[in-house]
Amino acid sequence: MKIIFHILVLLSLASCTANTTKDINKTTMKKKDIATVYKAAPPKRSIPKYKVKKVSYNIDDTTYMASGFNERVQFIVLHYTAAGRDVSIRALTGPRVSSHYLVTDVPSEPIYQLLPENKRAWHAGVSEFQERSNINDTSIGIEVVNPGYRESGGKRIYTHFKESEILKVGELLRNITSRYDMDPTKIIGHSDIAPDRKQDPGPLFPWKRLYYEYGVGAWYDEDAFNVYYDESYYALISTADIQKLFKRYGYSIIVNGEWDEYNKKVVGAFQKHFRPSLYNGEMDLETFAILMALIKKYNK
Ligand SMILES: [Zn+2]
Repeated sequence: MKIIFHILVLLSLASCTANTTKDINKTTMKKKDIATVYKAAPPKRSIPKYKVKKVSYNIDDTTYMASGFNERVQFIVLHYTAAGRDVSIRALTGPRVSSHYLVTDVPSEPIYQLLPENKRAWHAGVSEFQERSNINDTSIGIEVVNPGYRESGGKRIYTHFKESEILKVGELLRNITSRYDMDPTKIIGHSDIAPDRKQDPGPLFPWKRLYYEYGVGAWYDEDAFNVYYDESYYALISTADIQKLFKRYGYSIIVNGEWDEYNKKVVGAFQKHFRPSLYNGEMDLETFAILMALIKKYNK
């Protein structure tokens, strides 16, 4: 019995060794063969013949519809061009910057669409709002011809928009927002999304008027403002908590408990948009009450 067992073990070992040697030989042979064949001629590929009776290449876009989606266009960003009509057109049709729409200061001219809305225009640059960065990816850009500001006695003097421009921007915003399911707080200015770099569309841009006359964009309700315009309540809120409120609404503020240079610019951008009578970047009770009223109204 013991002898038979030994013979079996030896046989199995022998067969293992034999197989391994054979396999190595096979591999070496194969490699050699392949090399020779390649030198001679490339191998012919055999195309498999599928047995399919009928294949439809039609695209059916009506039978089944997905319900999980959102709009790719999330924001509308308003700008002034900081230049006259001709220079603005040249710049916006050139290779470096662009926008979807251009409103000029010539009343009889149409609103120029420079790009289809599904194209990505280059108007926002480094930008962030409501936790989205690269706002070019998700926005429609509107440029309005306006020279911007000039410095005078250490102050910036902004230029009023033409009445015809305001009317055109109002109609255009109404047109765009009627086609997208858009949160009003996402209709914003360039300075809202890039507060350390940009001033446009500036404190003379008529956000309040566009809200009341065209129903576009965000604006706070006076009743809510009056509730929050409370000095004793404001005194209890820490700087960091106020900064968290700006963040909640969408501003890219740094929550550090300090009104440093950058955070003041954020406050200034908010003020240019919602409290244009004073936009010095200093946090105050009125700014706080507006911010709270907006957060309450738009569920931020
Ligand atoms: Zn801009």
